[in-house]
Amino acid sequence: MRRPNFRRARRTEKLPAAPPSVWLAASLAVMPKSKRTSLHPDLAEVLLTEAQIKRRVKSIAREIKAAYGDSEFTIISLINGAVLFTADLMREIDNPVRLDCIRVSSYGTKTKSIGTPQIIHSLTLDIKKRHVLLIDDILDTGKTLKLVSELILKLHPASLRTCVLLDKKARREVPIEADFVGFEIPDKFVVGYGLDFAERYRNLSGIGVLKPEKQTTAGWSAG
Ligand code: 5GP
Ligand code: MG
Repeated sequence: MRRPNFRRARRTEKLPAAPPSVWLAASLAVMPKSKRTSLHPDLAEVLLTEAQIKRRVKSIAREIKAAYGDSEFTIISLINGAVLFTADLMREIDNPVRLDCIRVSSYGTKTKSIGTPQIIHSLTLDIKKRHVLLIDDILDTGKTLKLVSELILKLHPASLRTCVLLDKKARREVPIEADFVGFEIPDKFVVGYGLDFAERYRNLSGIGVLKPEKQTTAGWSAG
């Protein structure tokens, strides 16, 4: 059975020719200045536009296809953050897939992980002897992916692979790497494309860095 690489570096043979950090650097180099801030006024900068995400989602889907061939697998999506990424990625994959979700405790109104994440809602599908692809929005300290990977492995899947759209490598506290990574990003608090601050900004089509002065709910009215 394939186990997650808690210690080993991510397998490189399934990655695109350029490493994810190069994807981001190259993307920023060609992005016009207006696009860097136009996604939402609360953003200090746009890291990834909708078009860049779409292109990368398609290529991650090809990497996943290369790994699984035509086999069926079960996608486990970490909600809410991975909802948009999962929905777009699934539609680029023509394998038979099943979908389940796990909800892990969120940052709430904070912008840094504190303490140990908790599982709030677990699986409903039986994954014994099934190939599992675990999907999250962002790999940060690594605590969430490790916790959920361990839970899944206790249920005896045939294999487990992990996929994240974003990787903040500089923040890792637990030695874990994902099998499929969309983009490596700098250590900044980002929102959009599923990622939130206190449940806002998930519906932005791209991803950007939230202005420091907007990292507070002071002044928000209930609505
Ligand atoms: P980890 O357990 O790896 O520290 O954190 C993973 C979770 O933290 C992600 O699933 C995500 O919910 C949240 N997270 C980490 N960094 C960011 C960020 O920059 N922006 C947002 N919105 N959430 C983040
Ligand atoms: Mg999350």
